[in-house]
Amino acid sequence: MLYRCPFQRNRESCSCECFSYAENTFEKYGRKTCAMIVEPLLQGSAGMRMYPPLYLQKLRRLCDRYGVLLIADEIATGFGRTGKMFAFNHTGVSPDITCLSKGLTGGFLPMSLTVTTDEIYHAFYGEYNQHIAFMHSHTYSGNPLGCAAAHGVLDVLEQENILEQTRHKQKYLTKKLVKALLKHKNVGEIRQLGLIHAIELVADRETKKAFDAKQRTGYQIYKKALDLGLILRPLGDILYFNPPLIITKDQIDEAVEKCVQAIKSVLE
Ligand SMILES: *Cc1c(COP(=O)(O)O)cnc(C)c1O
Repeated sequence: MLYRCPFQRNRESCSCECFSYAENTFEKYGRKTCAMIVEPLLQGSAGMRMYPPLYLQKLRRLCDRYGVLLIADEIATGFGRTGKMFAFNHTGVSPDITCLSKGLTGGFLPMSLTVTTDEIYHAFYGEYNQHIAFMHSHTYSGNPLGCAAAHGVLDVLEQENILEQTRHKQKYLTKKLVKALLKHKNVGEIRQLGLIHAIELVADRETKKAFDAKQRTGYQIYKKALDLGLILRPLGDILYFNPPLIITKDQIDEAVEKCVQAIKSVLE
């Protein structure tokens, strides 16, 4: 069972019943809407919430029906974080505009990309005197060092077969976390997408009651983990792992061990 699904589905039986909310909203506002922005498959700062590829397939069709552009914010999910190059690669459909950054340069230099379909690109491309150029320019666009870092990352991703390796590491990390925490009385759900893993901590796993926010449970665990030498970055009471794709099994062992120790020391 998907822990918070209001339709009480599990992964197999989900047919995105919740999509009716989007359909109703498009029915009301779709005709005067220019674009729809989504974080594909993973809503990051909303609490590492995950949803199935089917939702995006349906959304692509709905956007097409209403002539609404679909914009994918793949800043967090891009470049292998979800197990494929882009989260949209899980769906078989594609957005009209994609925002990319973070994994593009691995954070070594700031660099971002806005990728569009040819149709959108050509809408702003022509003879100078046509005045269709996209004149909203960017002070630091095309920075050569940033571009070099991005090329470097793309080369490494390909030449060192990083994506293939993350599949093994993902299975390993899932197994470790499930073994250590799934039965814990305060763990509501462990969810996973690629190497990204999130642990939802609750006061009562049966009723799904959250901890009193005043207790700041996630923050207490963060502080304890920091003492142990591990930086967690909880979103409220959601702990998550979003490790670099080059993490080793030994490092996974160490991180999980310290995380579990921190959880137990705060909650038991
Ligand atoms: C980090 C992040 C952003 C912010 O990107 P900036 O380049 O700092 O503006 C936007 N969306 C998602 C999903 C992110 O993870």
